[in-house]
Amino acid sequence: MTDPVPDRVIRVAVPVPLPGLFDYLVPSDVAVAVGARVLLQFGRRPLVGVILACDTEPAIERKRLRRITRCLDIEPLFDGPLLRLLRWTARYYHHPIGETIATALPVALRRADKADTDSRHRGWQIVDADSPPPTDLARAPRQREILAALAEAGQAVAHGTLLARFPTAARPLKALAERGLIETVDLPGGLEHGQAGTPLALTEDQQTALDALRTTNGFAPALVEGVTGSGKTELYLQRMADILAAGQQCLFLAPEIGLTPQLIARIRARFDMAIGVLHSARSDGERADVWRAAATGDADIVIGTRSAIFTPMPRLGLIVIDEEHDGSYKQGDGLRYHARDVATKRAHDAGIPVVFGSATPALETLYNARQKRFAHVRLARRATGAAMPRIKIIDIRSRPLAGGLSPPLIERIRPHIEAGNQVMLFINRRGFSPALACHDCGWIAPCTRCDAPMTAHAGAARLVCHHCGAAHAAPDRCEACDGTTLVALGAGTQRVAGALRSHFPDVAIARFDRDAMARKGRLESQLADAAAGTTQLLVGTQMLAKGHDFARLTCVGVLDIDGGLFSADFRAAEHMAQIVTQVAGRAGRAERPGEVWLQTRNPEHPLLQRLLTQGYDGFAEAALAEREATALPPYGHLALLRAEAHEPDPPHAFLAEAARLVPQGEALACWGPVPAPMARRAGRYRAQLLLHGATRALLHPVLDHWQQALPELPQGRRVRWSIDVDPQDL
Ligand code: ADP
Ligand code: ZN
Ligand code: ZN
Repeated sequence: MTDPVPDRVIRVAVPVPLPGLFDYLVPSDVAVAVGARVLLQFGRRPLVGVILACDTEPAIERKRLRRITRCLDIEPLFDGPLLRLLRWTARYYHHPIGETIATALPVALRRADKADTDSRHRGWQIVDADSPPPTDLARAPRQREILAALAEAGQAVAHGTLLARFPTAARPLKALAERGLIETVDLPGGLEHGQAGTPLALTEDQQTALDALRTTNGFAPALVEGVTGSGKTELYLQRMADILAAGQQCLFLAPEIGLTPQLIARIRARFDMAIGVLHSARSDGERADVWRAAATGDADIVIGTRSAIFTPMPRLGLIVIDEEHDGSYKQGDGLRYHARDVATKRAHDAGIPVVFGSATPALETLYNARQKRFAHVRLARRATGAAMPRIKIIDIRSRPLAGGLSPPLIERIRPHIEAGNQVMLFINRRGFSPALACHDCGWIAPCTRCDAPMTAHAGAARLVCHHCGAAHAAPDRCEACDGTTLVALGAGTQRVAGALRSHFPDVAIARFDRDAMARKGRLESQLADAAAGTTQLLVGTQMLAKGHDFARLTCVGVLDIDGGLFSADFRAAEHMAQIVTQVAGRAGRAERPGEVWLQTRNPEHPLLQRLLTQGYDGFAEAALAEREATALPPYGHLALLRAEAHEPDPPHAFLAEAARLVPQGEALACWGPVPAPMARRAGRYRAQLLLHGATRALLHPVLDHWQQALPELPQGRRVRWSIDVDPQDL
């Protein structure tokens, strides 16, 4: 009898909030590989981990190691370069490696209970595509719509995709199948096939820009700065064509609200290639499939939002980040990464180009372009030759606002409506009004769990906290003085829409905000109506600011920009300028010239003046000078340590202990602890400590030290803390 072959030792990244890797045993006859997932028991919990090393010397006594439950992948999901990127990400953002890798995985692939999901899934297709649709579906509108959608797709559509578009599709699908009109099919891997389309003949500007993008080999970051409609997307498409022709893969990122059906359709109509879309409307299963298809190299193009930056792509040849200034590229919790920075690192390591596109680049990106770290190509004119709209101010000091609208603005809107054109009004606040106040004593209805007023909804009948989600009926008397006159202060989208209805009773109005879009498919249908010109008045938040073409839009009103001029957040002015420029870019896209009106109480504000007289470029120059003078990013570097607890004292005590660990020096400063901008949220008290370094290199040793030492601090167990490198909001 021979001795049994001993188990092998593997080192695994496990999704737990602990630093380091964990060793497990694998029976010697089980095939394992670096980058494959394993199912294991951690304590008593089943978890999905990823193997980072095989046949290692165990870090603890062998007999104390446990065996994995089983290996989940025959082929590794992560290749070496991607694992190196994830290790860098974990180090740079000072986040545990196991959680970092889990963040990269689609949800369906990180869940222990669904670890063995079949990657094939169900789709639907029309049985006889050549015969005309039956005429007796008049009384079954859902069936008709689904049939039309399948006919339009011209190929099988995944079950999950149909459900995302038609939430009540289950029954009509069954009915259609019973009549033999449609049938289910197995779909491989969640990919779709595009069609070959003809590229547009480039304008001179575009050609110059494309030539500039083509001059460099290897790692080549480039900023494409071009006003809305200047043909950036066409430029990306033609650059992608080069890369795809060379047999490489392209990764295209867009913000959630920028990842519109129009954009996807444009890519699909250009390339006769396998395309995978990682969209929030897709089911977990479909997203996992796209991800796998990218990993095997079956997907030529992957389109997705922030987290798609971690998609495994063995033949990756180009990364495009559209609307690179968008705040959604920074993750706000857990692994607080910025997809733009991860993309730069990924492109650097892979030795490939990365394109950042925007009409209003982030100041960080402009700075990189100025420092010649990024190439800077510009598209100054609109590709279609349409004129840029003029931006003008309406001074609302001492003017009565009704529903957020000043009388002069109404009069400016009217001719556009009467001429049959479209008008868009932008206000970055959803709900009816941002606060409900007592007319007698000034009391403002607060959220009991947050340091913030409740937002009034539904004509001030309901109060909703936008920070913790608390909601209840509005009170009918003041809690302080018992007065009965409660007034809604200020305006949100609902109130603006209501006011417009009274001024323009016969005009179709559409509201775009998170509340209005809560129902799936609503955004698409409202956008389609707006694109077709059937809705003349559009009211909305950020959601309206980008990515859409409304041919008849000739007038844009921005109702409230003053918040951006006077805010504790040093990025507020930048965001204001970006939003004004973006919404302005919506106007007059085609042959109709546009105008843009800003309501403000601060018409003389220097940054605003700069924006109006010299455009975003001029604004950015002034804003960068301010940043330089105050040593704020991109001239200085920040990291934030946040702490929160159910009692008020522990966060401060914890942060004070953390501050004592920081060596004070001229080039390194530690500010705080101070209460967070919202000192209490959802019942938790919050405080923060800001670390400022003249260079990044100064910050990282402190953060390393914190990562090791903070869990051991006396107060460390009493608070929830997190490190945020390059924080976006302070
Ligand atoms: P951006 O991405 O900068 O907003 P797009 O690429 O979407 O710009 O182009 C704006 C509009 O101009 C689109 O309708 C597009 O089809 C059109 N367009 C872009 N490039 C050209 C071109 N070279 N010739 C004609 N039309 C163009
Ligand atoms: Zn009162
Ligand atoms: Zn609240």
